[in-house]
Amino acid sequence: MRILLTGGAGFLGSHLCDKLISMGHSVVCMDNLITGTLENVAHLRGNERFEFIMHDVSNHISVEGKIDYVMHLASLASPVDYLTYPIKTLKVGSLGTHNSLGVAKKNGAKFFLASTSEVYGDPLVNPQPETYWGNVNPIGPRGVYDESKRLAEALTLAYHRTHGLDTKIVRIFNTYGERMRANDGRVVPNLIYQALHNEPLTVYGDGKQTRSFCYVSDLIEGFIKLMNSDLNEPVNIGNPCEMSVLEFAEKIKAFTGTKSKIVFKELPVDDPKVRRPDITKAKAKLGWEPRVNVDEGLRRTIDWFKKK
Ligand code: NAD
Ligand code: UDP
Repeated sequence: MRILLTGGAGFLGSHLCDKLISMGHSVVCMDNLITGTLENVAHLRGNERFEFIMHDVSNHISVEGKIDYVMHLASLASPVDYLTYPIKTLKVGSLGTHNSLGVAKKNGAKFFLASTSEVYGDPLVNPQPETYWGNVNPIGPRGVYDESKRLAEALTLAYHRTHGLDTKIVRIFNTYGERMRANDGRVVPNLIYQALHNEPLTVYGDGKQTRSFCYVSDLIEGFIKLMNSDLNEPVNIGNPCEMSVLEFAEKIKAFTGTKSKIVFKELPVDDPKVRRPDITKAKAKLGWEPRVNVDEGLRRTIDWFKKK
């Protein structure tokens, strides 16, 4: 297939480029590099099945030649990034998704949306099944991201129901691994970077809030299973291994052998108190479940950050 991949120069997008190319597909990687970098796809330049187009997908998208699949990953993704660019976040989730759907419709292509566990907001149900409608503050600072993704899901399913587009929606839970930006502000790169520089490890709030961390290769495997499935409605992909942020910080301390101490900082507004994917649907319908446990994934990620 010839696949248009928006956000392809980012953390997840570049891993997906690698996977798709290794499967024999051709990739048109479209990115405006607002948080992504060409370094992430440098090894693919020169490959005749890889093409890079610098473009902001919130503006009309035009691609020459036939496209068989549109995979829309472009978005500001880290809380620090989407709080820095609130309007761009809303635009890429709304206009960017609309434009990407338009390309799929014009080409008769399938469509894959990267959504997020943030559609569940600060969940009152734990773990979160796909049937949970969520608890989102639409007008809080995080609302720009949560609502952009909720609209993206609504747009995607409207194109499915109205135009018969073959759509897939993945709700991604916290994923980490090689090629995360050291300064993207998310907890994994922050704590690893701090630990490797013997700087204080910043834990926000009392650190009792929980997250469930999925290693990138597991997530990408889930993407491929979903893209090849006939599931048009959202599917959670994540690792249900839930832990508190404080436990996570202790783990990073132990794994890096850092001299750093843990310091507590203010909790960001509307920071979800719990998060854990219910992956019953992914297991039953896709035959997918994570294989890399957090200890192994973290060791690999720490090694990569050390080399970097
Ligand atoms: P990332 O910041 O590394 O990648 C996002 C990419 O999108 C970057 O390359 C950026 O330059 C590009 N981009 C942003 N706005 C754009 C625009 N208007 N036009 C073109 N390109 C644009 O983040 P990531 O972690 O790789 O996230 C990828 C996708 O997965 C995002 O949609 C994000 O919301 C979703 N997601 C990620 C996680 C996670 O844990 N990593 C969790 C939930 C959802
Ligand atoms: N967090 C933290 N220290 C940091 C960065 C984040 O304690 O240096 C916390 C953050 O408040 C949240 C959790 O770690 O409770 C995960 O944050 P992240 O930004 O990675 O993603 P989120 O799950 O909030 O989207």
